[in-house]
Amino acid sequence: MSAIYLDHLASTPLDPQVLDAMLPWWAPGAAGNPQAAHPAGWRAADAIEEARGHIAALVGARPGAVVFTSGATEANTLALLGTLAPGAACLVSAVEHPSVLGCLPELRRRGHPTTIVPVDADGRVDPNALERALAVGAAAGTGPALVSVMAANNEVGTIQPLAGITALARRHGALVHSDAVQALGTRALDMPALGLDLLSLSGHKLNGPMGIGALLVRDGVRLAPPSAGGGQQGGRRPGTLPTALCVGLGAACRLARARAEEDGRRIAALRDRLWARLEAELSGIRRNGAANGLAGCLNVTIPGIDAADLLLGLPELALATGSACRSGDAEPSHVLLAMGRSAEDAHASLRFGLGRTTRAEEVDEAAARLVAAVRTAGGCPP
Ligand SMILES: *Cc1c(COP(=O)(O)O)cnc(C)c1O
Repeated sequence: MSAIYLDHLASTPLDPQVLDAMLPWWAPGAAGNPQAAHPAGWRAADAIEEARGHIAALVGARPGAVVFTSGATEANTLALLGTLAPGAACLVSAVEHPSVLGCLPELRRRGHPTTIVPVDADGRVDPNALERALAVGAAAGTGPALVSVMAANNEVGTIQPLAGITALARRHGALVHSDAVQALGTRALDMPALGLDLLSLSGHKLNGPMGIGALLVRDGVRLAPPSAGGGQQGGRRPGTLPTALCVGLGAACRLARARAEEDGRRIAALRDRLWARLEAELSGIRRNGAANGLAGCLNVTIPGIDAADLLLGLPELALATGSACRSGDAEPSHVLLAMGRSAEDAHASLRFGLGRTTRAEEVDEAAARLVAAVRTAGGCPP
């Protein structure tokens, strides 16, 4: 049997419909800079505008809110480094993606106070700690603080209470950015209803292409140009737009909007099936993150195993230990540590990422192979 791909939280396979939408734009006849004043340029520009419409519609925003980027890493960086007034504070949760946490040293270098807001044992932001940090940020009196809290965590799948977070932030005059990369394929998310000012998304986490993402910016929020050159996208993110990738992201968002509810239900049922099998076979196994979390995420600790060693013996299973962005790196997951787990537990943890193409037989086969490998390795007595 071919490899079983259960790493959809790290990257998802391109949907054939997205590939079909992109193909004409890679053909030689499609040459044309979307800025050019001739029919080929106009066609490219029109296709990009249509894509903006699909991207905006997925999150209830206006097409003008969409700023194309190379992915969510760049979108997160733009949100954090491009919106703060001089001296204004930035507050992020302890379980953010490394692309958010990695901005903090640069923010401090530029004179912005930064706070990492702790989370509970399920990885949910502590509202009291957030409120205290917001009060300090507002007292600095240097312009609105920025709060960045992800919609759903990419390691343990915990969903953050965004509506409550934006309500708290608003009371203290702060803006809110959310890295919504993981939530969008299986959950509905409406920026205006949630009161979000900024939102990041990524093509390859949505069965779309790699190398493209977007930052959505609410009307009235100023985004400082990150580089001086070029005037594209109103100067908010200059550079010639890749027509095929923009069209692919649009198609991926259109599909996600049509399918999120059904995909969410089906994938959550597969995740529950996987957990039921593992729990029945491996005594002592524990689940990390809230049980009603992201449909495609199952993060478990299997006491006594070394997750990295175990996966080396299971090349037919594509899974992750800790965060995908850190594989090959022995650092324990910052998310599990923030949730109060020990480094030892983190090294005994595995993350399954299920997605649109996952089938029940794959889940059963993966569970059987993993259980056999754990038994061989001497973990979890039957
Ligand atoms: C994958 C991921 C990112 C980074 O997205 P890229 O488009 O790969 O740069 C950011 N945040 C979360 C939660 C992710 O899962």
